[in-house]
Amino acid sequence: MSTHHQALFIGGQWVKPHSSTRFEAISASTEDVVGSAPEGDQQDIDAAVSAARRALTETAWGTMSGAERGECLSRFADALEKRGSELARTVSMQNGMPIATAEQLESSYSVAVLRYYASLAGTLDAEESRPSPLGFNTTVRREPVGVVGAIVPWNFPVILSLMKIGPALAAGCSIVLKPSPETVLDCFIVAQAAEEAGLPPGVVNWVPGGRELGAYLVSHPGVDKVAFTGSTGAGRAIAEACGKLLRPVSLELGGKSAAILLDDADLDAFIGGMPSVSLLSNGQACFSCTRILVPNARYKEVVDAVAATASSYVVGDALDRNTQIGPMGSAMHRNRVERYIEIGKQEARLVTGGGRPASRDRGWFVQPTVFADVSNSATIAREEIFGPVLSLIAYGSDDEAIQLANDSAFGLGGTVWSRDRERALRVARRVATGTIGINGYLPDLNAPFGGIKASGLGREMGPESIAAYQQLKSIYAMG
Ligand code: NAD
Repeated sequence: MSTHHQALFIGGQWVKPHSSTRFEAISASTEDVVGSAPEGDQQDIDAAVSAARRALTETAWGTMSGAERGECLSRFADALEKRGSELARTVSMQNGMPIATAEQLESSYSVAVLRYYASLAGTLDAEESRPSPLGFNTTVRREPVGVVGAIVPWNFPVILSLMKIGPALAAGCSIVLKPSPETVLDCFIVAQAAEEAGLPPGVVNWVPGGRELGAYLVSHPGVDKVAFTGSTGAGRAIAEACGKLLRPVSLELGGKSAAILLDDADLDAFIGGMPSVSLLSNGQACFSCTRILVPNARYKEVVDAVAATASSYVVGDALDRNTQIGPMGSAMHRNRVERYIEIGKQEARLVTGGGRPASRDRGWFVQPTVFADVSNSATIAREEIFGPVLSLIAYGSDDEAIQLANDSAFGLGGTVWSRDRERALRVARRVATGTIGINGYLPDLNAPFGGIKASGLGREMGPESIAAYQQLKSIYAMG
């Protein structure tokens, strides 16, 4: 069954797009057309930004209490939950994410994010009254920053949108989202949920488009803040545009995270965690630990176990519940991953994978691929591949493992594996990243998520992310 959308959700209504250009949604597993949607243009962005402004100045949204905004977010979460399985299937079809992962992260986790920010919204109204050492009283207010322009990639299109919508709406902002052309269908389901929740018109708007439209949104004079998730290259261009405009921006960018297996690591636990830690959604996750740092004394044991496990994974249609590794998100992206695999063959020892699975003649599949004897200075250890390609790197001491983990342009995630939690914690504290897991990895709703260095600026999730959607105002009461 394919779905063909005709209208864009702007200003609380389904409106006719200005252009007749359309995006086709292609199944990553079968290469069949599974739907289509209008491609937004600059006039659609103009309309969406105006609607978002009016939501702040002309609708009840601008004067609602935090608790009332929380109720809107709760209704939105309920409406989204009803559409959970449709949402998961739609994402899985488009970008190849195994269906169980889509159900867990794109559906359930997304609903949980909205509920989390719904619960925080009621706590945000308080003004702080501070006695000044200068003899008067100052009121410190946290006001919504205004209209947010948000841009998301194709790999986790729903959750990455809601990680922006949740805190932005809790803070009292309105938002215009620009989804990626590769995953253009899911945003219509989220928009239907927003419509059912009865959010005031213009609070959330979606205009799908490519990078030029994204750049137009970033620099739009009606946008007060930009929230971006995507590649480091695009992040730099967006940061530059926002720098010129002195426009606040948060950036969630690429990664090349390391899994540090200490010499007392429970190898079975790591092997069991590999699908979520190193190969989540076929390796198309920003925090994937695709560098695996292994002590010399256990190197052969780990290489053998990782290679045997990777070669045992069921590669197949993302909608098939037996599938462990689905296809890459687009033909272009598969070509990119294959280029890295060819580079890897020159730089290191290929122990499994390295090509396309013989069993699939359609779909953008690559075999789970493991390279051993990888130098941390190799291209495959330095650049983000964004596919099921793992590099095993040997080390001598814990200090060397930390040095190798930190010797990266990126600083997003990481994991430490040890039977001794205190020892793992000591190592985790010294790893230069925004997040790190011990014996597993799952971004916590209630804690800031994000990266340092080339992995980005700012944080999403946790109560901290609300600050990115607020501005501070001090009122000096002199008399
Ligand atoms: P991408 O940067 O090519 O595109 C991301 C989005 O930005 C798309 O909607 C695209 O149309 C838009 N875009 C691209 N260039 C732009 C520009 N100059 N101005 C405005 N908009 C622009 O990334 P991608 O290939 O779609 O996604 C994969 C990347 O996203 C990986 O690098 C991955 O690590 C990163 N990512 C990071 C996180 C995180 O939380 N840190 C999460 C998921 C994905």
